[in-house]
Amino acid sequence: MPYYLLSAETTFSAAHVLPGVERCDRLHGHNWRVRLTVRVEEARLTEGGMGVDFRVIEDVTRTAVADFDHGYLNELEPFREQPPTAERIAQVVSVRAADRLAEAAPRVRVEQVEVWEVPHYRVVYRPG
Ligand SMILES: [Zn+2]
Repeated sequence: MPYYLLSAETTFSAAHVLPGVERCDRLHGHNWRVRLTVRVEEARLTEGGMGVDFRVIEDVTRTAVADFDHGYLNELEPFREQPPTAERIAQVVSVRAADRLAEAAPRVRVEQVEVWEVPHYRVVYRPG
């Protein structure tokens, strides 16, 4: 079955510490980049031929990281039990985005979340 993948990106600035990881165990920050990709089946396009308005994806992506921006990630609720690695950030964004999309755009689902810690280091999370 053919399907479409639609993406939107946002960025945020935040600090973190990764205990036990050389160099990363010191307080430091990144300008993180996040891309949310959603999937819509061919048969589920609107009559107008759209999966979902890009602005919806962008808004969902921004909202998912809003509390991260200019924050210290280790102190935020999602990362109290687990260090804020790029992997865990991607997973949290995926869960938050899925919750929002269930209401805002039920015809699409989260395909993957990409998180760049620096421009040349990227994690891809697929909720499956
Ligand atoms: Zn780091």
